[in-house]
Amino acid sequence: RAKSAGGNRFELADAEADARAITRHGLTTALPTALERGEFFIEYQPLVHLGDGSVHGAEALVRWCHPQHGVLGPDRFIPLAEDTGLIVPLGRWVLQEAVRQARFWQARHSDGGPLRINVNLSPTQLHHPRLVADTVDVLERSGLEPGALCLEVTESALIGADEDLLKPLRQLAEMGVDIALDDFGTGYSNLANLRRLPVSVLKLDRSFTRGMQQHPVDPVDLKIVEGIVSLAHSLELAVTVEGVETGAQARRLRDLGCDTAQGWYYARPGAPDRIHSLLLADAV
Ligand code: C2E
Ligand code: MG
Ligand code: MG
Ligand code: MG
Repeated sequence: RAKSAGGNRFELADAEADARAITRHGLTTALPTALERGEFFIEYQPLVHLGDGSVHGAEALVRWCHPQHGVLGPDRFIPLAEDTGLIVPLGRWVLQEAVRQARFWQARHSDGGPLRINVNLSPTQLHHPRLVADTVDVLERSGLEPGALCLEVTESALIGADEDLLKPLRQLAEMGVDIALDDFGTGYSNLANLRRLPVSVLKLDRSFTRGMQQHPVDPVDLKIVEGIVSLAHSLELAVTVEGVETGAQARRLRDLGCDTAQGWYYARPGAPDRIHSLLLADAV
């Protein structure tokens, strides 16, 4: 069909596929040296209390400053790092760097209450035998109290998780580390299953936040969020919402009882200094 439409569509499509494959291959082979060369950096996005907009903490989001392709987002390279196992040293670096940064903010804002740091964990890291030992090590070296760290695990990574997989998370939770279920509501998990998981925070997926932008809001969407929040609170879990882009969304989600929020409405992910200035602004 493409041929009869004239031109070199087939060739073009092939060339595009080739380019993608080369990039994929190129990125994969460049990953290990990228870590050695210090090409990764972290942006921080604030998490705020929905009640008063004050800063609750920040999520660490990794980026790759590639010498040819420029800044790449995690969706471009985290899956490759997962496939090649590089996610383990990369994840360890992110954890170490983010925890160090959080400790630094705390030291400069001793009056600002316990600032928290959220770090994403991918499934391979979850299965890694040194997860607990490495995390304890990073915390001890930095002097950050375990209660200031929140590890985010996607709901889908924990679907059908057996006790062997949950044990390290349980150990971390017993030490005081918060475990958050990221992208909650997209994974078709059994809600009753939540009781079994050592989690203390639900991060409601951005798709729900998007629904809160409609005028009027779909009553079924409202009921769903209301239901999730009330279930979460009855299990003593805090609810964070992702992807808040407007004041209307923020107000609705606050009225629905959500606890904390994250999104462009408050701040885009950015350099660590940004969090520093937000903390300064809060202190006034
Ligand atoms: P996530 O953990 O669900 O992070 C939230 C994503 O939503 C981030 O995308 C953030 O930039 C984006 N976001 C925040 N506020 C808004 C908003 O108001 N509107 C919209 N449209 N988007 C918003 P990002 O930085 O591209 O990260 C994508 C995913 O990559 C993350 O999703 C997380 O799963 C993964 N990731 C990021 N850093 C790491 C890391 O250090 N380790 C691992 N394993 N995964 C990471
Ligand atoms: Mg996350
Ligand atoms: Mg998320
Ligand atoms: Mg998400």
